[in-house]
Amino acid sequence: MLLEKIESLLKEVSTLTAANAEEIEQLRLKYLSKKGEINALMADFRNVAADQKKTVGMKINELKQSAIERINQLKEEAQNAESHSDDIDLTRSAYPIGLGTRHPISIVTNEIIDIFSRMGFTLYQGPEIDDDKHVFTMLNFAADHPARDMQDTFFIERSDPNDVTKNVLLRSHTSGDEAHYMETHEPPIRILCPGRVYRNEAISARAHCFFHQVEGLYVDKNVSFTDLKQVLLTFAREMFGPDTKIRLRPSYFPFTEPSAEMDISCNICGGEGCGFCKHTGWVEILGCGMVDPHDLAACGIDPDVYTGYAFGMGVERITNLKYRVNDLRLFSENDTRFLREFESAY
Ligand SMILES: [Zn+2]
Repeated sequence: MLLEKIESLLKEVSTLTAANAEEIEQLRLKYLSKKGEINALMADFRNVAADQKKTVGMKINELKQSAIERINQLKEEAQNAESHSDDIDLTRSAYPIGLGTRHPISIVTNEIIDIFSRMGFTLYQGPEIDDDKHVFTMLNFAADHPARDMQDTFFIERSDPNDVTKNVLLRSHTSGDEAHYMETHEPPIRILCPGRVYRNEAISARAHCFFHQVEGLYVDKNVSFTDLKQVLLTFAREMFGPDTKIRLRPSYFPFTEPSAEMDISCNICGGEGCGFCKHTGWVEILGCGMVDPHDLAACGIDPDVYTGYAFGMGVERITNLKYRVNDLRLFSENDTRFLREFESAY
């Protein structure tokens, strides 16, 4: 008797249908709740003869499982039907799409390019993976020159200490671009070379294994140090304000002679002296000088006919001066809280 009832419920359960979530809930209550049909069977189960208990017990379990499965199946079908519905509300407001911001290094690089292009400089970009010949040797860094130690970089291949074209490396400065350009172009040359450069340095707030430079080069007849100074003064005033003063201090670079480092009057205290400028009223922003005649000759330009000047600056340094970013690591950590600070800077 009981077995027949279970069999008929099994059939019933396997063909259950429901039109919506509410009907599904009704089915659940009917079969699976405390007062439902399956629990009611348990009362009859007590009266089953001992030798039948195992068979009947297993059958009741089978019924319960198939009721649970069928009801879950109905729920899933109802959900799928809902998500495939083409009842789309076109009037609902859109999800906001966050607009990115320009990176501070790009903002400052573009500003530098902008200023120099107004003075007739055109853009040239060389390779980041270069050879020893263009990065060092053509620029007067002899193989045993101590200045090489100041620019320790990452070598990809160092197969032959005597053949500099065989040593492949990540460039340590963008001056190599100038060598590439001079090698393949006749003067007059007036180029600006922005880009990423690499150094073998431990990463800290003040040093990183990569940073950005912009270098400039002008080679023509009768180019003088006076021209260089005027171009740099114009740059400093455009970049940091019309009251900015510049100061040139003698320095040394292998590829220029004479060489100088340029300071600008501290743009925080206006030259009065403050913590930022170490109370000197001046901050260093770039290196420059007249291109060494040896470099011109090494690149196939006649140093008896042409002269030239070159300058180079670190973009991170200029960005720090403009926006007070004093930890280099912030530039490459991709922290959007930092990057969003520059939303209104361009
Ligand atoms: Zn100052």
